[in-house]
Amino acid sequence: MTEFDFLSSVDDVPPTPILIAPQAVLRTPARPVRPEDMSLLRDSLPGMFSAMYKAPGIGLAAPQIGLGLRFALVDVADEGTRDPILMINPEVISESDEMAAREEGCLSLPNQYAEVVRPHAVRVRYRTLDGRVEERDADDLLATCMQHEIDHLDGILFVDHLSSLKRNMLMRRLAKEQKARR
Ligand SMILES: [Zn+2]
Repeated sequence: MTEFDFLSSVDDVPPTPILIAPQAVLRTPARPVRPEDMSLLRDSLPGMFSAMYKAPGIGLAAPQIGLGLRFALVDVADEGTRDPILMINPEVISESDEMAAREEGCLSLPNQYAEVVRPHAVRVRYRTLDGRVEERDADDLLATCMQHEIDHLDGILFVDHLSSLKRNMLMRRLAKEQKARR
């Protein structure tokens, strides 16, 4: 846990505002994180973790806070515990033939949920905060979440995996709800 020392006080950190669709940055492929991006990345983490935990959500990708860099947070631990994962320049390097349907939502599409079919298990490679390359096998909820977050880095939202009919319905409903909030 030394990688995330700041998490002990993360609940006191103001949450970084999360962008709601439609926003161009959510549809723009992010660029790889380079060494010179690391201080900006480090600085953005407390506010991002705070935003994810406060929402509450189980994942948050940099484009969702308007940062076009390839990194994302994931934490699928049960309520009351934490198991934070930071994936820098992540990629899915293998996926199961077996598919699974799971209901997904997104902090950038509040209150919208739909069942999405994805590979049940994936192997993901990413860099850690201290620069190590890590490979991790994930299945079930963690696999879904990692794929959802990596999609964000390519400008893809979970609704893109649905029929256009269903996608348009969700996006219209979101727009209507957002308008009512203003
Ligand atoms: Zn999302």
